[in-house]
Amino acid sequence: DQNELDYPFKLLEYFNGFRVSKVIFTACELGVFDLLLNSAEPLSSRTVARELGTSPDGMERLLDALVGIDILEVEVADGTALYSSTDVASLYLAKGSAKSLHDMIIYQSQTIYPLWSNMADAVREGRNQNQKTFGLPPEDVFQAIYRSEEEMLKFMGLMNSSWVLDGHDVVTAFNLSGFQTIVDLGGCTGALAREMAQAYPSSSVTVFDLPRVVEAAQQHFSQENQAVAFHTGDFFSGEIPAADLYVLARILHDWPEEKCLKLLRKIYDACKPGGGVLLVEAMLFENRRGPIMAQIFSLNMLVQAEGRERAPSEYSHMLSKTGFHNIQVCRTGKSYDSILAIR
Ligand code: SAM
Repeated sequence: DQNELDYPFKLLEYFNGFRVSKVIFTACELGVFDLLLNSAEPLSSRTVARELGTSPDGMERLLDALVGIDILEVEVADGTALYSSTDVASLYLAKGSAKSLHDMIIYQSQTIYPLWSNMADAVREGRNQNQKTFGLPPEDVFQAIYRSEEEMLKFMGLMNSSWVLDGHDVVTAFNLSGFQTIVDLGGCTGALAREMAQAYPSSSVTVFDLPRVVEAAQQHFSQENQAVAFHTGDFFSGEIPAADLYVLARILHDWPEEKCLKLLRKIYDACKPGGGVLLVEAMLFENRRGPIMAQIFSLNMLVQAEGRERAPSEYSHMLSKTGFHNIQVCRTGKSYDSILAIR
């Protein structure tokens, strides 16, 4: 690109990417978006600083940077700058907003960000950096992710908030109404299961997850969960309940191929002929040229887990190796895509 050779605008913007992320994360952690959403009128940086207990100087710089990235608006009148929320900030960034991504941001800021500071070691060694970042053994990924009750709830908040954006699209990528009983394996808080229950009201939907996760889901995410049932277990070492359709959303990307095949075989054995499995993942393009989101998620799996993101052909290969057929791929055009396969 000739413009980039004249002056590397895009490159400089990329270098700044982590700082831009941190501007949004910091505002979120301090409660800037909630304050502005709940305020009837635009606020000065002094007022925001006073309400949130920060330094006036620090807050002024933070608010200005948020204006610079079009997350806030500013009007300067009589020498006073008054800041207000944009529609995007009000919809997605405040904790109490309709499509809040607050929990996603908190997890990215407090857990993903420290992990990514060890990315060079992750690439060098080809494995996760839970040891270096958190002092935890690299073998047990979920022991690291769930290293405290607080961390577990933060992770569950992250999982819960993603389906605000893509949930409806991935569950309606195929007409699943023919499947009477649906089990979402590793279904966590039940966010995707709720989307399933809403899209297919005559099907029964069950979330299957580790006991402590189910307990926390029922305790902390329960009012939202009336339409789904919960079942505890371990999908590697235990039994899985009978179902017409098994959902694996963001499960296979956590694991290396041999563990994926083990899990798919277990599902195949539990599945009746005509039953199916729905994979929901951020899928790479076959030509390796994107999507950038999936490529970045794949690095995230390297630094945090044991798996990787894959292209549809890799999922199809694992599915047909297990014995599934009628493999259909649906790209949603958003972050997550769906694959349906039938026994
Ligand atoms: N499916 C959810 C979603 O997409 O939002 C959560 C995906 S999260 C990356 C992986 C999930 O698998 C977690 O909820 C975790 O507790 C669950 N999990 C991990 N190991 C498991 C096991 N051995 N048996 C059952 N669930 C497990």
